[in-house]
Amino acid sequence: MPLSTLPPDHHVHTVLCGHATGTPEEYAEAAFSRGIPELAITDHIPAPDGYDPETRMGMEDFARYEAAVRKAQSHWPGRIRFGIEADFYAGCESWLNTFLQTHPFDVVLGAVHFIGAWGFDNPAQIGGWQERPLDRIWSDYFDQVRRLAETGLFDVIAHIDLPKKFGHRLPASRLLELAEPALQAIAACGLALEINTGGLRKPVGEIYPSPALLRRACELRIPILFGSDAHRPEDVGAGFAEAVRLVRACGYSQHVIVEQRRLRWESLPPVAPAMA
Ligand code: ZN
Ligand code: FE
Ligand code: FE
Ligand code: ZN
Repeated sequence: MPLSTLPPDHHVHTVLCGHATGTPEEYAEAAFSRGIPELAITDHIPAPDGYDPETRMGMEDFARYEAAVRKAQSHWPGRIRFGIEADFYAGCESWLNTFLQTHPFDVVLGAVHFIGAWGFDNPAQIGGWQERPLDRIWSDYFDQVRRLAETGLFDVIAHIDLPKKFGHRLPASRLLELAEPALQAIAACGLALEINTGGLRKPVGEIYPSPALLRRACELRIPILFGSDAHRPEDVGAGFAEAVRLVRACGYSQHVIVEQRRLRWESLPPVAPAMA
């Protein structure tokens, strides 16, 4: 493994989801050429029940997805993980449990993108923010995150403060209060917390999670890993130097890599130069 000053990227999407570009091989070339040592391909999981069909591959595409990841793995042995970004929502558990057990994923990202039928992070549904109290939205959201952790189905909580995407923030003290049960469940159930740099490319202009949440996660000894949430190869590893500086400033000295659904601890890169 080449020495790297950047951590692995655990979160990228592919052309199969319908709103991204790039094949696993194109992501791998982009990642490895800019000093990202390892890469997990984690496209949006297909859904059997008509859940959010606009943003994911169809069930009939899943075999093509796995084949594309396997092909990339054959070109870069040991450096590419077969992953998935799986949505948590009420009623998903039984099907998801079966699906995850029948496919040999290295890493399963857990994500909440909906409150009820409302896709709160979907630009086309941004009007929903005017229809509910802000505090209620965040409260309902973190309740979903707590439930996600407690299922035991996921390795990682992705973009834990996603509702801030368009700038709908809470005061830090209230945010921490509402997030605490979710963070406690994440710690108790052994999930890793994703440092998701996608937020830097969104209106909020901030990494998920915020520094306040990250400091609390560090106190709770919650493991962290890094993800760009790239939807095009150009964004793989984007913002990772800044992300390493952030987690160090919040108290972390180690991160994890997920392989065959197990966490492997490593020291954070000693220096994090700005990316070219
Ligand atoms: Zn996506
Ligand atoms: Fe997501
Ligand atoms: Fe994603
Ligand atoms: Zn995502």
